[in-house]
Amino acid sequence: RPVHNAVFSYVNPEKAPDPQLLSVSPAALNEIDLTMEETKTSEYLNVFSGNQLLPDTHPWSLCYAGHQFGYFAGQLGDGRAISLFETENKKGERWELQLKGAGRTPYSRFADGYAVLRSSIREFLGSEHMAALGVPTSRALNLILTDREVYREDAPSDVPQPEQGAIVTRMAPSWLRFGNFEIFNARGDRANVKKLADYVLKEVVKIDQKSTENKGNRYENLLRQVAKSTADMVAGWQSLGFNHGVMNTDNMSILGLTIDYGPYQFMDYYDHQYICNHSDTSGRYAFSQQPTICMWNVWKLGSTMTELMGAGDEIDEIDITTLDDTERREKYKKAGADINEKIAGEELGEYFMESYTEKMRAKLGLSTEDSSDMETVIGPLLHWMGEYRVDYHKFFRSLSDYQITEEGEEKDADKAVDRLKIVSGLQREEKAKEALRPWLSIYRHRVLLSKLDNESRKEQMDKVNPRFILRNWIAQQVCSAFDNKPEDEAKSMLDSCLHASINPYESKYDDEQIEKWIEQDVPQWGRDLKCSCSS
Ligand code: AMP
Ligand code: MG
Ligand code: MG
Repeated sequence: RPVHNAVFSYVNPEKAPDPQLLSVSPAALNEIDLTMEETKTSEYLNVFSGNQLLPDTHPWSLCYAGHQFGYFAGQLGDGRAISLFETENKKGERWELQLKGAGRTPYSRFADGYAVLRSSIREFLGSEHMAALGVPTSRALNLILTDREVYREDAPSDVPQPEQGAIVTRMAPSWLRFGNFEIFNARGDRANVKKLADYVLKEVVKIDQKSTENKGNRYENLLRQVAKSTADMVAGWQSLGFNHGVMNTDNMSILGLTIDYGPYQFMDYYDHQYICNHSDTSGRYAFSQQPTICMWNVWKLGSTMTELMGAGDEIDEIDITTLDDTERREKYKKAGADINEKIAGEELGEYFMESYTEKMRAKLGLSTEDSSDMETVIGPLLHWMGEYRVDYHKFFRSLSDYQITEEGEEKDADKAVDRLKIVSGLQREEKAKEALRPWLSIYRHRVLLSKLDNESRKEQMDKVNPRFILRNWIAQQVCSAFDNKPEDEAKSMLDSCLHASINPYESKYDDEQIEKWIEQDVPQWGRDLKCSCSS
């Protein structure tokens, strides 16, 4: 139902039956200056399960709109997210703490406001993993299990059976999305579009107006900054083989953070056309589409601010939001549309390519830049990977073992290919090896040009190529453990997975389970697992 004129609504979480603190991320805890000891109190559990409000706090849910799968969907809003409070850490950074799955809000529409354990585990681990992998993301602090019975259509069993509910505590410096601008724009509420943009400029996205790159008025520079951070985030996704799956504008953070861990997946085998979202029948959000969709989304955001951007320096001369449909307003809107097109198009494309190429160079251990790297080294490698369905993560991690010397390693190319364990076990193994040889030779020359010795190259590469990656089947195994294993075993599996997710680069783990996950090939049952959006 429409919540007329709302920007947000005050809403308290529902009381949760028998909450149990399943897991806390030490990495997220550290961001808000708390210790593990402090999570052991009943107050901690009560607050984060929604059973107790801290004094003088007034939880709220945001109203927003969004374009879903290319179409404007009208009012959406936080349907199962309730923000509890904001807090500032010692470094002066602000965090907004939010519960997901703590009950209905005015924006729940037809749904129940809850979340089940499996989707909560995926979000909890996924967010913390992403942060450890260095990609901007919302964070997850706690995973709490409740005795609430939740029914889902896509339940693992055919007979409808209740699943256990869960609540994730999430944190972000701000949860504002593109959709927060879109709701005001759709209502024709120009004053609130401007107010929100001013708020974002003051409190959320800090912009150096004097930087030479920032050439327009403050609203133009805001869009430019959002374009940059969004491009950087998507470049991070592409370099990690991460498919988000639901890049609707309501899932695009104004800070360029990865938000909405629904059907997401880190691809096992490189596949340019990969679609992780079961409901995405047209492939709109396929892996290869992500950079283009990011442009489309930023353009949609920019469309809400055309008159603000187009007014240029005249912005402070008049109250633009009450300017009628005069020639002057039309002129501003037209100028703003041109600016929007340029930022969301050409500029964003450049930011993306720059950031992506830099990240791929790091993965390849190239310490210098060559303008042809994309065409000569990165592109052909990805092409080969797609052709032979190569394990993306294992390949990069093992490439650092490839020893390169001035004197003809090339004649040992066979050995080198064998040493990249990756190629063994592939279908069409011999063909794959043969096809990789010319690339290895190009790579070898390129590495020699960058003048990094083998040891330093390995050191640098192993810092950016994760040894542990939160593959879909691994997350799935952790989720199923809560259905079919004794609770302490399931919990220990979750602990292992969290540890590996937040320390993904270790060359050896003191934990057999983690080593097994890494060494083992993707099991037959775990191939092409797909998830849908809402669970
Ligand atoms: P998503 O596709 O995950 O971005 O969700 C789209 C919208 O549906 C958002 O406004 C969510 O808050 C809402 N939503 C999804 N699942 C639920 C649920 N179980 N209860 C209430 N709202 C939900
Ligand atoms: Mg969402
Ligand atoms: Mg979601």
